Amino acid sequence: MAKKVSYQNFTFEEYIPEQQILDVVKNIATQIEKDLSGQKPLFIGVLNGSFRFLNDLFSHFTMDCEVEFIKLKSYESTESTGKITELIGLRDSLKDRVVVVVEDIIDTGLTMANVINDVLAMNPKEVKVATMFLKPEIYKGALMPDYVGMEVPPEFIIGYGLDIDGLGRNLNSVYKKIDSVPLELSKKKGMLNIVLFGPPGCGKGTQSAILKDKYDLVHISTGDVFRGLDPDSELAKLAKSYADKGNLVPDDITIKILQSEVKKYPNARGVIYDGFPRTSAQAEALDVFLKSKGGAVSCMLELEVEENELRTRLKGRAMDSGRPDDADPAVIQNRIDVYNTQTAPVAGFYKTQGKHKSINGIGSVDDVSKRLFHNLEEVIA
Ligand code: 5GP
Repeated sequence: MAKKVSYQNFTFEEYIPEQQILDVVKNIATQIEKDLSGQKPLFIGVLNGSFRFLNDLFSHFTMDCEVEFIKLKSYESTESTGKITELIGLRDSLKDRVVVVVEDIIDTGLTMANVINDVLAMNPKEVKVATMFLKPEIYKGALMPDYVGMEVPPEFIIGYGLDIDGLGRNLNSVYKKIDSVPLELSKKKGMLNIVLFGPPGCGKGTQSAILKDKYDLVHISTGDVFRGLDPDSELAKLAKSYADKGNLVPDDITIKILQSEVKKYPNARGVIYDGFPRTSAQAEALDVFLKSKGGAVSCMLELEVEENELRTRLKGRAMDSGRPDDADPAVIQNRIDVYNTQTAPVAGFYKTQGKHKSINGIGSVDDVSKRLFHNLEEVIA
């Protein structure tokens, strides 16, 4: 039976035993020492989590090397609702130094990207990145870290320096959460649940990508999830049989898919729901699901674009998207009709909750983004 521990009413079970971690650290240390011999590298640990990994790495080094620690401080700007991250503890110059930035875990890679930017500004000779754990399914960085101890699935882990609300860092093995963490207990407080709504071709996908980057959110598009399924699976065939005709995939399937997607991101600052909910039943199911996690929909942002413009946009998109549901005028019309009869009423669901905001979706991508930022920031404020 796997060992279990509990923190904040959640249960974690042993996932990576201590010895396995120590063996991996030793291998990384050997590799780094081989690559950087004769260079007197400076190791920069990102606090708090990296202290154990860095300590164990150091126990193997025989080369001349130095160590320093930095900390990231996040705070809300007084001038915007954007999050500002500041590095504390970095020296003024790293001129001619070979630097290895050391992290405990890299998830999206945003933290590391911030750190690297600041380190590069200090003119080092070379910068390398070493992380004990990496979540490749979530990682969005352009370059892979130079040294990766272990790849882990997109689940919440603690131990070996990693914490849950400050606890669990002293565990020698790594433990995996086996029951779901309510979203409101995620590291980044104030979980946002944004429904981005509007007819096919209104720009939901484009704007979701922009909102996701600006506000550090997870983007879940049920359409993308269905299109990304193994094409030979029964579920993919079923979903395709509806979508190709411009009809909606039945609620029970869509709801299950959505829930399992959301559960992949227990640490998200927030989620943009793109293409969900598409029916009143889905809207109700989303409320129940989020409530079970102590959350709620924060707002629905509806992009308003009139029908003629939609038809023109979808025809244009068919040229490069290769989506069969974009190509055929009859299918396009059916999608617009299905939207008007089945989906548009979902706006009413959120209007009665006082969560609906209408946004003009005509204009340049930039113009529409600015309108969305403005509306969203009223919700976040
Ligand atoms: P990123 O900026 O790469 O998305 O997030 C990196 C930071 O998120 C890590 O330094 C760590 O603080 C936190 N984090 C990401 N995934 C986990 C996890 O599974 N467990 C714990 N304890 N923290 C995590």
